[in-house]
Amino acid sequence: MTATTDDFPPFSGDRPRCTSCGHKGAYTNWHPGWPTANIGEYLQRHCARCGFFWGERLVPADAPEPAARPTFRRRLARLFRATEATR
Ligand SMILES: [Zn+2]
Repeated sequence: MTATTDDFPPFSGDRPRCTSCGHKGAYTNWHPGWPTANIGEYLQRHCARCGFFWGERLVPADAPEPAARPTFRRRLARLFRATEATR
């Protein structure tokens, strides 16, 4: 059986959980693949804490963005509104 990038999990967003150390957050690097092993280009994830590496599939350009989380600034704005309301 030959491995292909179809065996890779889909891209998990900017803050995936590392399966080695549980840290949330990983770097992403495009990798050209391994033609001799019949593996095409993929995304190489690199845990920000322990350095664990794993592969994920490319995200097609027309794919929807991974579910957006509220940014820190938006959370802060909501907090301020809540504080205002209690005055
Ligand atoms: Zn890790």
